Amino acid sequence: MTSPPPLLDWSKRRIDYLRISITDRCNERCLYCMPQGLKDWKEHDKILKYEEILRVVRIAVRLGFRKFRVTGGEPLVRKDVVPFLEALGNTPGVESFGLSTNATLLAPVADRLRKAGIDSVNISLDTLDPDEYKRITLKDLESAVAGIDAAVAAGFPRVKINTVLLKGQNEDQLLPLVRFARERGAVLRFIELMPLTTTEVLGPGNFLAIGHARKRIETEIPLERDREVQLGHGPAVYYRTPEGQPIGFIGALTDLHFCETCNKIRMTADGKIRPCLGNHMEFEIKQLLRESDSDEAIVALFHETLGLKPIEHEFRDNYQPGRSMTAIGG
Ligand code: SF4
Repeated sequence: MTSPPPLLDWSKRRIDYLRISITDRCNERCLYCMPQGLKDWKEHDKILKYEEILRVVRIAVRLGFRKFRVTGGEPLVRKDVVPFLEALGNTPGVESFGLSTNATLLAPVADRLRKAGIDSVNISLDTLDPDEYKRITLKDLESAVAGIDAAVAAGFPRVKINTVLLKGQNEDQLLPLVRFARERGAVLRFIELMPLTTTEVLGPGNFLAIGHARKRIETEIPLERDREVQLGHGPAVYYRTPEGQPIGFIGALTDLHFCETCNKIRMTADGKIRPCLGNHMEFEIKQLLRESDSDEAIVALFHETLGLKPIEHEFRDNYQPGRSMTAIGG
């Protein structure tokens, strides 16, 4: 299969990474993502079918996309997800294939997902304190840790732990999480809150900047910036401990260069192409998929999307959440 020329957006950023949300449902209720009572879930017929998603992946590969990540909500809650992931992994031209999960359902399927070709698992873990984990997610920490250990044992090339920084809530967990990740050979990343579901998260009482988190860690462990390391396809900035452990910092709010090398667009579970996480612009693809067997209209939609992709997010410009994080897929 001859490789198509690099796909560029209007600002000449190379776009080769499609993040695909396959469900807006989740078995956890993280305070900053799906606060209790949030129930604006889509009806089943409004959600893209697996074969529709695979059709988009085949078209995306023809256009030049090479990296794909399956997200949710929690993708592993969707029925028959493993055969779907196996089919996606078998799609010619898919060079990198990742999964984002809270790991609570991962342990029983980790080996099979590794065989399906998944090379990167991103796992949300905001605390190692069981009571705090329960308070933040309404779920048990044990099942998440069991999922992380199963991912490590399954031998995924990249197991990454994503910790959302919550001021006054998990600051005392930063160093224990560094040790936890080191013991498992996992790559730890600290992520600033983004106003995707509610703006309250940006309040001075909740928001903790990556710079403060890094300083907190450096009270015990010196960190050195590593400009060479490339552990994935995202905007993380990496540092190393004296032992060489990589620690990433993802600062959508305080990192002013956050969007400069953006290489991704998203497809939501209900069939919208979203060029930027921090902008409400969306393009309807589900109807096109259901109206015609011809892929031309979908190819045109991708080009239209890249022609209008925002140069950066609007999180610093009084961004008002529209759809919840679970509907967009992080
Ligand atoms: S916020 Fe938007 S432009 Fe910035 S990195 Fe994310 S998707 Fe790209």
